Amino acid sequence: NESGRSLAYFERILKLEAIVGADVIEIATVLGWRVVVKKGLYKVGDPVVYCEIDSILPPWQYFIDDKMDSRGFKIKTIKLRGEISQGYCIPIKELINHPHKKIKAVYKEEEDNNNETIVHLLDEDSNEKIPIEMGRNLTDFIGIKKITEYVQIPRNVNGSNRKAYTFPSFIKRTDQTRIQSVPHYFDLHQDLLWEVTEKLEGSSITVFKKGKESGVCSRNFLIEDFQGSDIHQAVIEDLDLLNRLSTIDLNIALQGEILGPKIQGNIYQLRKNYFKIFDIFLIDSQRYATHDERIEILNSLKLTPSDHMAPVISNSFSLKGKTLSDILDMANGFSILKESKPKILREGLVFKSTSTIGSVNQSVVSFKAISNQYLLKKK
Ligand code: ATP
Ligand code: MN
Ligand code: MN
Repeated sequence: NESGRSLAYFERILKLEAIVGADVIEIATVLGWRVVVKKGLYKVGDPVVYCEIDSILPPWQYFIDDKMDSRGFKIKTIKLRGEISQGYCIPIKELINHPHKKIKAVYKEEEDNNNETIVHLLDEDSNEKIPIEMGRNLTDFIGIKKITEYVQIPRNVNGSNRKAYTFPSFIKRTDQTRIQSVPHYFDLHQDLLWEVTEKLEGSSITVFKKGKESGVCSRNFLIEDFQGSDIHQAVIEDLDLLNRLSTIDLNIALQGEILGPKIQGNIYQLRKNYFKIFDIFLIDSQRYATHDERIEILNSLKLTPSDHMAPVISNSFSLKGKTLSDILDMANGFSILKESKPKILREGLVFKSTSTIGSVNQSVVSFKAISNQYLLKKK
């Protein structure tokens, strides 16, 4: 799995609820996810392998098997009998029947010194014991791939292929964890305040300066020779970002979303390209700037924050007294991007702490809440 995202892991069934009128399915809660499972298959407290949305499971006999094809089983947000289902659960015992070559495991129940039953998987190839501990990443073990939308690499006006290089190791790549995967944040981070920005649906671009080095990167690559591309128009011709960065003394990476007619289906119906900054990575301290720091840096670059930043919904939001479903409701709504056509459903929201946490390594905590309304409509 190239993205490095943990898509499948051991978790527990926290809750089981009946669905009115359904005989063969019920709703399980795993972390903050609600997922349809076969009725009677699990008890509350059972450990399972939970696979997140965006997973492609290798070909296999799955419970919802009409969706299976030779390219694997894609886990998306679906609605069954009026209930949203996100993800897929695999009983641990079934994991050992999995035909994927990475799994040659047997299920072992043993007694430890206190006569307690302990269960683990035993990899028959390496003889390695794989303990069934909550949160343990099984993405590669199962051979799960991530659904990635095809991003067209811009081509030169003269038709030659652009060269791409590996992403600079001193910059963090853009990524956000879904709130459903970290429901403990409601407790753990209840004293933080959050900046809430709109999650824009485009392509991630990073523009950086470090000493005498500078460059422009896509989500995963440093790109060279992008003359004549949409990225060049938005980042260089319109905003002159590389020159602007050279005027200040900081080693930073501006990270933002490029939006426009040819990008990700142009959901905002834009007629030209825009670059909207959502984060600034501070290279020397290896952390993201907070909201206030970001505004200050944008001002010193002479970029008006309200014009060039992803839309800000709040800069002092609190999670205190809020539930997961409050946050998911909040994610639904229309885009407030000012260049957007009116009444376009937004993709969701991204929450970032307005102060840093940690005493040794300071960091900004963040998560995303994708709009279920948007996910269901997208198809
Ligand atoms: P996927 O990779 O699943 O197709 P994605 O590219 O949107 O989806 P996610 O992991 O869902 O990636 O979300 C993180 C991405 O969201 C970032 O890489 C960034 O490009 C994008 N993004 C858009 N708006 C914002 C924002 N306001 N704050 C932070 N990131 C944002
Ligand atoms: Mn991601
Ligand atoms: Mn995106």
